[in-house]
Amino acid sequence: MADRPAILSISAKELETWLTARKAPAYRRKQVWGWLARGAASFDEMRDVPKPLRSGLEEDFRITSLRPVAVSQADRSLTTKTLYELDGGHSVEAVVMRYADRSTLCISSQAGCPIGCPFCATGKFPFGRNLKAHEIVEQALDAVRMLASEGRRLSHVVFMGMGEPMANYQSVIESVRRMSDPDLLGISPRRIVVSTSGLIPRIAQLGEEKLPVTLAISLHAARDELRDVLVPINRKYPVADLVASSQAYAGKTGRRVSYEWVLLAGVNDTERDAKELGTLLRGKLAHVNLIPFNPVDDTPYRAPERAGVRRFRELVEAQSLNVTVRDTRGRDADAACGQLHERVMRERAAPVLTSTRPGRASSIRRRCLGRACSATTPSGCTASSSTEASTARLPSPRSSNGRRARQRISASA
Ligand code: SF4
Repeated sequence: MADRPAILSISAKELETWLTARKAPAYRRKQVWGWLARGAASFDEMRDVPKPLRSGLEEDFRITSLRPVAVSQADRSLTTKTLYELDGGHSVEAVVMRYADRSTLCISSQAGCPIGCPFCATGKFPFGRNLKAHEIVEQALDAVRMLASEGRRLSHVVFMGMGEPMANYQSVIESVRRMSDPDLLGISPRRIVVSTSGLIPRIAQLGEEKLPVTLAISLHAARDELRDVLVPINRKYPVADLVASSQAYAGKTGRRVSYEWVLLAGVNDTERDAKELGTLLRGKLAHVNLIPFNPVDDTPYRAPERAGVRRFRELVEAQSLNVTVRDTRGRDADAACGQLHERVMRERAAPVLTSTRPGRASSIRRRCLGRACSATTPSGCTASSSTEASTARLPSPRSSNGRRARQRISASA
């Protein structure tokens, strides 16, 4: 029954009020949350909650609002990407990555993204809507369920999936508070990374929250001329102001800022780029994270060769910066954010389009778990344009983005 609210769509207080109305003590709320945090997939599993109360919960709530519609595995099952359908028909992705010492979830905060970076699969389809806080937390709960069945626990969360987290600020902050609540997931905010393409006013606001999350800046270029193309929000918030704002956050929280750099062959991997990066960040509380590009169809960008990645890393190190190269995960699981969504939408809308990669397409179709999504266009969901105020404030209409990017890149090359 889609009309029942999800259990986490109501606050702790509202759940306690619901319990009180059934003459149940308020501590039952902690029991219910405890079961959710341990990966319970139904209210009936909550064995220390009296049976009539479990039945009442089942009648009035859903355990989650997310419906998994496709799953893609990679890296010998160390990486799992799940596409979820939301209430209303939009869909988002979340990726579980298993390592020797931790399990990390890459989480989505919006269905689509209003920023429109031209190298990003998410940026290619129309913006859908902001996620509610509980829809963000439910991605984590599903990861908990998945990992619990393998004897693992979720230890880290990164807001680097679909969407610009700072454009959905209130829901993201509320979800971080819930995920770090000891009554629920109890994940330290220090193990939660919130990324942004550069919404400076929200970075300042984050510094006031007393939530010591790690801030990641999706930098990708150190000069405005190039960053205006790669990250269109730069036209509103230029790179020098962005670094000043992120360093103010570092000064306030004592947390080192991570600067993300998707490596695009021949675009931002030159000696000039490394030197500009050095000038921008040298001596600052900063860490550079190089991310070799995961190829995305219908974009003008290429992934660098391994030797090119190594060379750029050395060039950045020579600038006296701390730098790591991110492990490329999920190349066989539509790794870049938005790719699984795009592939599934294409299959549903026009199966003939999948014939270029029959092996992969059929493997996803076999794993399709749920009911049909409402998407009817090859590029994505049926929502036309965003009704969110945050979208209206952002520059750069996406429709001309790819074309403009191609023009600007060839001009600056
Ligand atoms: S890279 Fe991030 S900010 Fe840019 S369009 Fe994709 S999801 Fe949005």
